[in-house]
Amino acid sequence: MLSIPIDQCLPQVPRLSGALPGPRAQSLIDRDQAVTSPSYTRGYPLVAARGEGCMLEDVDGNVFLDLTAGIAVANTGHAHPQVVQAIQAQAAQLLHMSGTDFYYAPMVELAEHLAACAPFPAPGRGPRARVFFTNSGAESNEGAFKLARYYTERSLIVAFLGAFHGRTYGAMSLTGSKAVQRQQFGPLVPGVTHIPYGSHASLDYLEQQLFPTILPPNEVAAIVVEPIQGEGGYIVPEDGFLERIRQICDHHGILMIVDEVQSGMGRTGQLFAVQHWGVMPDIITLAKGIASGLPLGAILARPHLMSWPPGSHATTFGGNPVACAAANTTLKLLETGLIENACRMGEVFRCGLDQLASRFRCLSPPRGKGLMVAVDLLDPGYNLDSKLRDQIVDQAFYRGLLLLGCGQAAIRFCPPLVINHDQIGVALKILADLLAEV
Ligand code: PLP
Repeated sequence: MLSIPIDQCLPQVPRLSGALPGPRAQSLIDRDQAVTSPSYTRGYPLVAARGEGCMLEDVDGNVFLDLTAGIAVANTGHAHPQVVQAIQAQAAQLLHMSGTDFYYAPMVELAEHLAACAPFPAPGRGPRARVFFTNSGAESNEGAFKLARYYTERSLIVAFLGAFHGRTYGAMSLTGSKAVQRQQFGPLVPGVTHIPYGSHASLDYLEQQLFPTILPPNEVAAIVVEPIQGEGGYIVPEDGFLERIRQICDHHGILMIVDEVQSGMGRTGQLFAVQHWGVMPDIITLAKGIASGLPLGAILARPHLMSWPPGSHATTFGGNPVACAAANTTLKLLETGLIENACRMGEVFRCGLDQLASRFRCLSPPRGKGLMVAVDLLDPGYNLDSKLRDQIVDQAFYRGLLLLGCGQAAIRFCPPLVINHDQIGVALKILADLLAEV
C-alpha cells in the first residue's frame, strides 16, 4: 500500500477561501490570454494547481469538487498514487524510444492486456485484437479511418450528426457537431455522409433512401459511431440501434468503427460502452481515460483487419513507455473496483438527479450509463435552454463545483470513477441550491 501524508490531503468537499478567481489565478489567466490561442474554449476561470481523487485545488488554495475529470480523462481520479508511482518508476527507466521502430515491455504488456479484453470474437488461436497506439482521440479516429479505407479498398464513410471525433482533417470530417469546428477549414476529406444519430428512423433512411441512390453500400468502408454520443449531449441511442448497425455492416461488408474515446475505459460501468448492448464492433478507438491523464490513444482492430504493411501508418510518440506504464496501472485499477464503482455510483447519481428533476421543472430527467450522465436545462415552455445551462455551469464554479456542458443545453457529469456517496450528495446539494435560485 502506498501511503499519503494525511496533512497534505485535500479536503473531500469544496473549500473556497475568497472571491474567485483569486489573485494568483487572475494573474495566470491574464498571462495566458496574452500568449495562447484564442481557439481554446475556456468558460469559468479555474486555474488548476493540484488534484487528488475527485478534488482539485487551484493556485490560490481553493478546493473544488471536480465532476469533469478534465473532460472525462482522470477516470482513476486525479493523481492516483499507484498511477503516479508507475509513471515515476517508468520515467526513471526509459522516457522514450519510439514504439514505431523499437520494442519495449510497457507497450507489449498494454497491447496484450487491451487485446485480451477487446469485445471482439474469440479467435481459435492468437489474440482477439491487434493494437495501434496514438497520442489522442483525434489521432485514433484518423488512423481508424485510414485503416478502414486500406482494408476494404472502399472510400465512403457513414458518420452521425452530433458526433464528435476530433479536430484533425480526417477526424474533423467525421465530426458532425458544431459549424464553428468546420467553418473556413474546408475542403474536408471527401466521402463522409452524416445521418441523424440514435434512431431506427435514421437507419431506415440510410438503408432505404441513401443506399439505393447516392451511397452504394459496396463502396462504404465503415460506419463510425459513438455508442453514447459524448460532446453531442450524452445521448443514449434507441434500443437496437447499435445492433442494427452491426447487422447492416455484416450484410454489406462494411466495418463498424466504435469511437469509445469518451465512453470507454470503464466510464459507463463496462470497460467499453458498446458492451452494454452485446455488440462486437470491428474497430474500437480509445484515448482520454486510457492513461489517467497522460497523452495516449489506441486503435483496437480484429486481428485480420490490420493488414497494412510496415510504414503505411506510424507515429513517433504513440505508445510512449511512460504513458503505457500509466495505462497498464489504469487498467488494473479499473478492473479491480473502479468499473464496479462507476456502476454503483452512477445509479446513486441518476437517482439523485431524478429527484431533482421531479422538484425542478427546468431540469430534464437524467440519461446515460454509469458515470456518463447528463441532464438538459429547459425553459418554461420545456424547450432546451442553453443560456440557463451556461448560467448553472458558471454559478456552480463559484460554489466549488466543477461542471461541463455538452450538446445544446445539457450539463454532463463525468466525474473520476473514484467518486463516493458523500461527494455525489455534495454535488446534488449545490445543484439543488442553484436550481432553487434561478
Ligand atoms: N472522440 C470522442 C468521442 C471525443 O469525445 C473526443 C474528444 O472530446 C475525441 C474523439 C477527440 O479526442 P482528442 O481531443 O483527444 O483528440
